[in-house]
Amino acid sequence: MAMTRNSFLKTLAGATLGGGVLLGWPERLLQAQEKTRVPVRSTRIRDAEVFPFQLKQKVVIKISLGSTATTDNVLVRLRTEDGIVGFGEASPYAAITGETQQTSVALGRNLAEMVRGRDPFNIARMVADMEAFAPGNPSIKAAFEMALWDICGKITGQPVRYLLGNYRDSFETDLTIFIDTPAVTAQAARDVVSQGFKVVKVKVGESPEKDAERLRAVREAVGPDIGLRVDANQGWTPAEAVRGLRAVQKYQIQFCEQPVVSWDWAGMKFVRDNVDIPIMADESVHVPHDLIEGIRRDAIDMVNIKVMKAGGLMQSVRIAQIADAADMKCMLGCMQETRVGLTAAAHVVASQKNIQYADLDAFLIHSFDPVIGGMEVKDGQIHLPPAPGLGIDVDPTFLRQLRAA
Ligand code: MG
Repeated sequence: MAMTRNSFLKTLAGATLGGGVLLGWPERLLQAQEKTRVPVRSTRIRDAEVFPFQLKQKVVIKISLGSTATTDNVLVRLRTEDGIVGFGEASPYAAITGETQQTSVALGRNLAEMVRGRDPFNIARMVADMEAFAPGNPSIKAAFEMALWDICGKITGQPVRYLLGNYRDSFETDLTIFIDTPAVTAQAARDVVSQGFKVVKVKVGESPEKDAERLRAVREAVGPDIGLRVDANQGWTPAEAVRGLRAVQKYQIQFCEQPVVSWDWAGMKFVRDNVDIPIMADESVHVPHDLIEGIRRDAIDMVNIKVMKAGGLMQSVRIAQIADAADMKCMLGCMQETRVGLTAAAHVVASQKNIQYADLDAFLIHSFDPVIGGMEVKDGQIHLPPAPGLGIDVDPTFLRQLRAA
């Protein structure tokens, strides 16, 4: 027979008072427990569903790794036996994590089997089990893990960022401009600023000369007071990166993401040693041990964490805390998530002091937003709702159109 909370507390208090020490918890603690607003609950995951979906994009996205015209993501919906629903999202980006929508759905079927019947609060255990079952595949693991956090937040009545250690409720994000001609890029930058954003991120990595031309056009278009950061997505050789970054230093660049190919730590260090712009690892750092390597080699100033590379919120927090121990600031970036995944990422930013930069703008590329509630952007500031869990719902009409894999 299942023990109710009251009978458990009585048994425990009786055991203590009677001298038969059960766990040594004083009666005072048990009385305090009685007064908490939300009773301790025990529940299990009953249903786990995986829904592939596609969103049209307003624009073709061109970065140095290639172009995308549609966004092909995966939605995960978990439900407990007492009816609490948690949502998560995978945005697989094959050129970076080696995953596609199809591989994410395939592994998602296995992960669904793994979480059914489990206590949603055993997140660390489930993350370890998923990792032991199949290394890599971080996006679909992140989707399951964020759905578990969503459920745990709803059970406790708290926003997920409170469970992770709340540091802030709102923060600034940039908006990214993709590779195009200098004239088109400059106009895009003016549009970004007119929407209230104070920071523009410009994709580079084409050639140092073309990149410098584009950055000159952007700086002239937005004036001196707008923050400018650049992302080469591995597009340069170390020598090109040094030449390219030296040429644009005068445009007050905050930092440069991933100037050279992801595995070339020596190249990253060479660039860092030869330019005055801080160097940020992105594709070089997926999981915590990658960052340890970057720190050991003294190759980077900063790191761009992504929930989709790290495999979830907990792993993202671990990377931020390793960086903090090395006195390093972080950015939190995204792939092509809707506001399901982006809101989860925003909870991570809100929870860590040293995540001082954010690049959570992907929802603006989609021609449809399937999310109700969630993070909102106003004048370049992201605000998180006070609702429990992730604070999102998925549009029921959109959801009805999807077919579970
Ligand atoms: Mg990047």
